[in-house]
Amino acid sequence: MNFAQVIGQKEAKESLRRMCAEGRVPHALLLEGPAGSGKLPLALAFASYLLCEAPKDGDSCGQCRACRKTMEYVHPDLHFSFPVVGTKVTSDEYLPAWREALKNTPYMDLHHWLQSIGAENKQGNINKEECVLIARKLSFQPYESDKKVMIIWMAEALGKEGNRLLKLIEEPPHNTHFILISEEPEAILPTILSRCQRLRLARIAEEELAGALQAQGLSPERASEIAVLAEGNFRLALQWSSEADEEEGQLFVDWLRKCYLGKADELVEYAEKLAALGRERQKHLLQYGLQFIQQMMHWRMSRGQMPIRLREKQRLAAEKLASRLAFRQMEQVSELLDRSIAGIQRNAYAKVLFLDASLKMHKMIR
Ligand SMILES: [Zn+2]
Repeated sequence: MNFAQVIGQKEAKESLRRMCAEGRVPHALLLEGPAGSGKLPLALAFASYLLCEAPKDGDSCGQCRACRKTMEYVHPDLHFSFPVVGTKVTSDEYLPAWREALKNTPYMDLHHWLQSIGAENKQGNINKEECVLIARKLSFQPYESDKKVMIIWMAEALGKEGNRLLKLIEEPPHNTHFILISEEPEAILPTILSRCQRLRLARIAEEELAGALQAQGLSPERASEIAVLAEGNFRLALQWSSEADEEEGQLFVDWLRKCYLGKADELVEYAEKLAALGRERQKHLLQYGLQFIQQMMHWRMSRGQMPIRLREKQRLAAEKLASRLAFRQMEQVSELLDRSIAGIQRNAYAKVLFLDASLKMHKMIR
């Protein structure tokens, strides 16, 4: 990954280049920003830039020995730490899968990552053993470069274990750079946060997103459609442009329909079905629902002028429902979905959560 391959993020790239040019690359940098904005791709591009033997035109050269290795994610001075599942397990055991996932797309999210290691229903953590491993890795001299880079992806997964890295992040060995990545910086220990220089990425601009989708082979119409819908989230845009998303859409519309009808036995049955999906997919489904409702609200506010940007089947369902509901009702559903996502994140008992949400939804939309 080099800067040129990172979609948009012109300002963030500029600040990173400036740090290098002025010789003030921080010991610890925190890249934060909304999901799908390209924090991990940017971290990878920055690491390549730092390790490149002959950077040119403000980017890594892509040809030197270092670049060839960073492109394959096998540079011995580029270390990765990321959430894995289980105690006593470390990132190292998942490195082959991690490299595969990055090659697939560095715009992945935690859900996709956990899914790729067959742990989609579990919570990923960066555990104590991992912190010990990080310290050990960084205690060695660089192998091939004059620097070492440690990328910690989803640093919020450190939880309290972050305490173990405090000293290291404050005073890392010579020429060692931490790049922390987080979608929820408020979940990182304040003591760690205060030791990081923070760089916030914005959402990717619509036209940049559309351009990137076109480069993937989408028609200009479909690309701009999805770009609007994805709201700056390239990961989501990729998902929208793939067929797999159809399933989430159908699940949500089916759920809505059952909520509308409000037959108790069906609602119980559906809550059980949704509960069996696993946490990450449940979150996805609810996020899809939020997009769905948002589209309805836009459509409503524009008095049907702004098209509903959903797939055909879901679009028809959304139009039908939007013409029946008052704006306030849509807001209520949106708030309900928001609360449900929070509930899933807090590990609420899914069956109860979905049944409760279904009953509330029934009252809201009937
Ligand atoms: Zn190079």
